[in-house]
Amino acid sequence: MNLEIRNLTIRYGRKEALSMLNLTVSPGEVVALIGPNGAGKSTLIQGVSGLLPVYSGEVCYGAQNLTTLSNAERARILGVVPQARQLGGAFSVKQTVMLGRTAYMGWLGKARLEDEVAVEWAMQQTGIETLAHRRNAELSGGEQQRVLLARALAGRTPVLLLDEPTNHLDLQHQINFLSLVRTLTRQENLAVLMAMHDLNQVSTYADRVALLVDGSVKAVGKPNEVITVENVGLAYHTPIEIIYHPTYHTPLILPKRN
Ligand code: ADP
Repeated sequence: MNLEIRNLTIRYGRKEALSMLNLTVSPGEVVALIGPNGAGKSTLIQGVSGLLPVYSGEVCYGAQNLTTLSNAERARILGVVPQARQLGGAFSVKQTVMLGRTAYMGWLGKARLEDEVAVEWAMQQTGIETLAHRRNAELSGGEQQRVLLARALAGRTPVLLLDEPTNHLDLQHQINFLSLVRTLTRQENLAVLMAMHDLNQVSTYADRVALLVDGSVKAVGKPNEVITVENVGLAYHTPIEIIYHPTYHTPLILPKRN
């Protein structure tokens, strides 16, 4: 089933941060959300996650309107990976990943076998089994980000939302993390919406791209349809040139001196 964002409007007081925004994410695809600072990427991820109130419009998964569900119901559909460095340092890795099972647990919060199985699976997929008993505070940035991904995966949700997940990571960890997300998207048939900054990484790892400017989608499509000199130049107010990747033929951005 698709994640369908329809006519979504979100306001901060009188200021409209998203205006009648429409976007669909299908199972098995990574949709990158790009746009300049202040375009509304974070607002969109937070609004769809239920962290911000929706002013009007809907976010549907199949027949269910997520904006009317309880937090626990929504958490069985959507997993959220926030920006790096948002982990409680005192928790162990395994405890953190188990938090991804909260929506399935009773009020006593006791883990059942299926919770343990999901947590083990998520830690294995993200390669953090050997870190299970370490404290988050003792982990590198790359490891912490894999823990955040494992926490989201443990919920076994069909939809994943990621908010600039590779901020603060070095190049090796950025590439490893994005490759892992792409592999899991295919393997688990996930519908993935990911806010991203680096347009060359968007080209390499995203199936489709939505360009957000001033709270609306200005272009959506395959990377070579959206990452064009016109679109990027206008959205980012910066002259650029585009060349094509020698192997993948995806568009790559080159800065142009003013
Ligand atoms: P992006 O993630 O693309 O940088 P944001 O979603 O953070 O953009 O911001 C979209 C717009 O909403 C911006 O104009 C920003 O100033 C405004 N905004 C974001 N958060 C708040 C807030 N808590 N209160 C008021 N305005 C906000």
